[in-house]
Amino acid sequence: MDCIFCKIINGEIPSYTIFEDDKVKAFLDINPVSDGHTLIIPKNHFENIYDIDLDTLKHIEMVSKNLSKILQEKLGATGITRMQNNGHGQDVKHYHMHLIPRFDDDKLEFSLNRKKILNAEEAFKNLNFN
Ligand code: 5GP
Ligand code: ZN
Repeated sequence: MDCIFCKIINGEIPSYTIFEDDKVKAFLDINPVSDGHTLIIPKNHFENIYDIDLDTLKHIEMVSKNLSKILQEKLGATGITRMQNNGHGQDVKHYHMHLIPRFDDDKLEFSLNRKKILNAEEAFKNLNFN
């Protein structure tokens, strides 16, 4: 499969790995938005939130929690912004969680268009999770 992140997992593309186990790999983003910007990816190829299985997702959350603490301690981050794109807005179609260390003076801005009104109340009216 022609997937950049699968190539990173099998070593065809180098990466600066900061954590790895049998299920996931965490490495530095090649184009970081802050110092220590990390991506956590599953070793099996899932595209995004729609097809990834819950066990893998839980494992990524566990690693995300542990690494957030490490980034805080090792880099002196004063916060962590976690980001995860699915479909529209997702450049690499292999599930990945961004861990973005934040610093008091980082001036990072994530701009959202809060003026756009979607018809959510109508769409959710008869929502039933059972
Ligand atoms: P997305 O927009 O899909 O949520 O984010 C994809 C991320 O993958 C981007 O932050 C981008 O910099 C990173 N990325 C893309 N190609 C590579 C690569 O070959 N190596 C590494 N380390 N990061 C990559
Ligand atoms: Zn892949």
